[in-house]
Amino acid sequence: MTDRRDGSESQPVLPWHSLSPRAAEEALQARPGGLTSDEAAARLAEFGPNRLAQARRRGVLMRFLHQFHNILLYVMMGAAVVTAVLGHWIDTCVLFAAVVINAVIGFVQEGKAESALDAIRAMLSPRAVVVRDGLRQEIDAADLVPGDQVILVSGDRVPADLRLVEVKELRLDEAALTGESLPVEKQLAPVAEDAPLGDRYGMAYSGTVVVFGQARGLVVATGMQTELGRINQLLAGIDNMTTPLLRQVDHFGRVLALVILAMSALLFAVGVWWLGHPPAEMFMMVVALAASAIPEGLPAIMTVTLALGVQRMARRKAIVRRLPAVEALGSVTVICSDKTGTLTRNEMTVQRVVCASLCVDVQGVGYAPEGYCEVDARRIDPAAYPALALSVRAGVLCNDAVLRQDEGQWRVEGDPTEGALLVLGEKAGFSAQAGRQDWPRLDVIPFESEHRFMATFHEPVPGEPWIFVKGAPERVLEMCRAQMGLDGVEQALDVDYWRRMATDTAAKGLRLLALACKRARPAGAQLAFADTESDFLLLALVGMMDPPRGEAIAAVADCHRAGIQVKMITGDHAETARAIGAQLAIGVGRPVVTGSEVALMDDRALREMVMSVEVFARASPEHKLRLVQAMQSQGQVVSMTGDGVNDAPALKRADVGVAMGNKGTEAAKEASDMVLADDNFATIAAAVREGRAVYDNLKKFVLFMLPTNGGEALLVIAAILFQLTLPLTPAQVLWINLVTSSTLGLALAFEPAEPGIMRQRPRPPGSPLLSGFFIWRVFFVSVLMMAGALGLFLWELNDGVDIERARTMAVNAVVMAEMFYLINSRHIFDSVLSREGLFGNRYVWLAIGACMLLQLMYTYTPFMHAVFGSAPLGRREWLDVIGAGLLVFLGAELEKAVIRHTPLGRRLRGEK
Ligand code: ATP
Repeated sequence: MTDRRDGSESQPVLPWHSLSPRAAEEALQARPGGLTSDEAAARLAEFGPNRLAQARRRGVLMRFLHQFHNILLYVMMGAAVVTAVLGHWIDTCVLFAAVVINAVIGFVQEGKAESALDAIRAMLSPRAVVVRDGLRQEIDAADLVPGDQVILVSGDRVPADLRLVEVKELRLDEAALTGESLPVEKQLAPVAEDAPLGDRYGMAYSGTVVVFGQARGLVVATGMQTELGRINQLLAGIDNMTTPLLRQVDHFGRVLALVILAMSALLFAVGVWWLGHPPAEMFMMVVALAASAIPEGLPAIMTVTLALGVQRMARRKAIVRRLPAVEALGSVTVICSDKTGTLTRNEMTVQRVVCASLCVDVQGVGYAPEGYCEVDARRIDPAAYPALALSVRAGVLCNDAVLRQDEGQWRVEGDPTEGALLVLGEKAGFSAQAGRQDWPRLDVIPFESEHRFMATFHEPVPGEPWIFVKGAPERVLEMCRAQMGLDGVEQALDVDYWRRMATDTAAKGLRLLALACKRARPAGAQLAFADTESDFLLLALVGMMDPPRGEAIAAVADCHRAGIQVKMITGDHAETARAIGAQLAIGVGRPVVTGSEVALMDDRALREMVMSVEVFARASPEHKLRLVQAMQSQGQVVSMTGDGVNDAPALKRADVGVAMGNKGTEAAKEASDMVLADDNFATIAAAVREGRAVYDNLKKFVLFMLPTNGGEALLVIAAILFQLTLPLTPAQVLWINLVTSSTLGLALAFEPAEPGIMRQRPRPPGSPLLSGFFIWRVFFVSVLMMAGALGLFLWELNDGVDIERARTMAVNAVVMAEMFYLINSRHIFDSVLSREGLFGNRYVWLAIGACMLLQLMYTYTPFMHAVFGSAPLGRREWLDVIGAGLLVFLGAELEKAVIRHTPLGRRLRGEK
């Protein structure tokens, strides 16, 4: 199973789970600062990239042959065999050629669609955090090598097989590997050499997910040498290329093929036994009918339209992971969004620090540490107020972020909330670097949305131990016994004061944190939740500004116009959420409901309330899941954003689960249908617009394609029933289908979104593509096409023109009508009689140009004359042909006008 070419067979294989962490470190020659970049590069060359072998794709030949596996093509191949038996060699060849050309077109287009999706898959390649050259850095997981030191936090997918050397309440979901659905708690102790995979507690295996805690581990196997590689299991990637709509079309194709076969058999019987045609001749007519009615090009172009849509979305930073999401996006009725970073900029600045009896304003915006503290517009020295100084210190120490200056720009690495506290520290004269040296951190409980606080344990070199916490004020207040007075002396806790100050600060739209401390060391060897339950001294409240994104304000307005409700589901304080919501026009004049209120409601109450509320505050991931379910039970199509590992169930459950590309965890990304490369709400709105456009284009294509087949079929049926000379031979019918579906139809895949697309209501989910209106439009245009072509044909015959020339005119009339109708098809209901309508899509004109060239070839080259029995036309004849095209063009525009302006028409439009 090892792939010799990637060199991975030379990786050291030891029973890592039965070695102690120290022994593993020695075996891998690991150092505290990690590998150097040179060592890593050398090992990468030796051991190969950390990638699983690609799932074996179907070979080129198989993919090509698969194109023939299509009931419509079977019918055509059957007809080819019978024409061969009858000795109509030219028809046989043309039928076979049509089948092969169709397969080639399908093959090429499927290839294009796949490479578009491959490119998108590459954008989602996993990342890993390692320590190399003594620095923490994020790298492409494919570049990991044995011996690398990897840092895991909750939500990560383990990027390679690791021997854990440090764990902090680490729990892994190993279902991908062992099938065990409950998370497994990890420890460092070695286990017996023959322990099964699920019992190897000291190991973290590639492909499993961190559901809780943190850890550090050494890479012991990469790529195909990992356990996941050994069982050769690929993680679910992008689903295959099908969507509800494609399935609907596929089903339609099958039914159509059966209908065509039945109709052909019926006509054959009528022709032979009732009208008395010779069976062989009748058979050729029926073959012409079958060939004309079958929309061979349909599946291939549908796939391309979808793939192009996905590509366009990727360009707008919305990366689609599952294709059905493209369609679901078009019918989304509610978008639920996180606040921080998605609706807001996630650039925090501390603006206010409230200590006992002192309210301090902080000047300066952004991450540049320029600014100062003031009270009542008078600058103050923070060092003069012990409680303020200790608050600032606590904020800097209970902190994992790093403040950096890059080319003059100040940047925060890590959580912006924590970054803002570092900036506050610099402004108050307390730098993180010095602070962390003098007050070394011995342990930490990292921040998680569920518990809403972070705690650290420090022991200054000479001095007593300290535990600091920072977190949501309600949470921190529960832990406090007393408060610190401004002079640094302990006072009784004035809960009312703090609540009042919290509400007052949050009402200004500021995000709230509380800081507290206690002089103690953990009861056990490690800092545990039990150590954070009580006895803290409340130090201060911190209010930070995180302004809404300008583009999010516009995008929310767009969504409202498009009939989509936007809800904000945030972990933040209710008042902060209300104030920020108001700036974004979310939830104005409506109540704000908190997560704890949601928890108290039963499903029925939740269902009744859910659509009348737009802002949910202090909500946790489990509330998100219940909210999605409640909305769905109200018939809503829901898009939900998320970033943490615990958001995964809600993302999976939502119709369109959206994960954040930057701050999102791997677990959230994998549960999602779409990933936002820029974490921006506006991107969701852009994706909805594209989703609607793709659906429109698919509809336009079907509406364009079917009347060609319908028109031709009617032509043949009319000829049979009225005992006329056949206006189109089977070969000619196939020629028309080929020319129109391979050139003309493709242009519609490039149609841009219609300008009013975001002013329409969402499409009702599950609404059938082939509605009553569709059938009417296909029938109407088919009749127009048939009338033009048949009229011309009969007219010419009547005039004594020879049959070849009359048929050539009929062929050209149908193709010309298609060219004109292509322009009609740019808008389903709106007129195209405008500059934009006629010239707005250059692909339409390129396609018409290409098609015109083919028609000239068809009409004038001797080769075509020989194969298809065509004949040259003169100027007058071309004018007639153009007239037939214009008939369809004007007829279709007139029909749209009637539909737009009459009540019956509006009813026919149905969904609009
Ligand atoms: P959203 O869900 O919209 O992204 P959010 O980022 O405010 O909102 P959480 O990250 O769950 O939601 O934060 C909830 C609360 O936890 C915050 O209001 C804040 O009080 C507190 N908090 C946030 N980040 C930290 C942190 N790094 N350390 C301690 N407390 C934090």
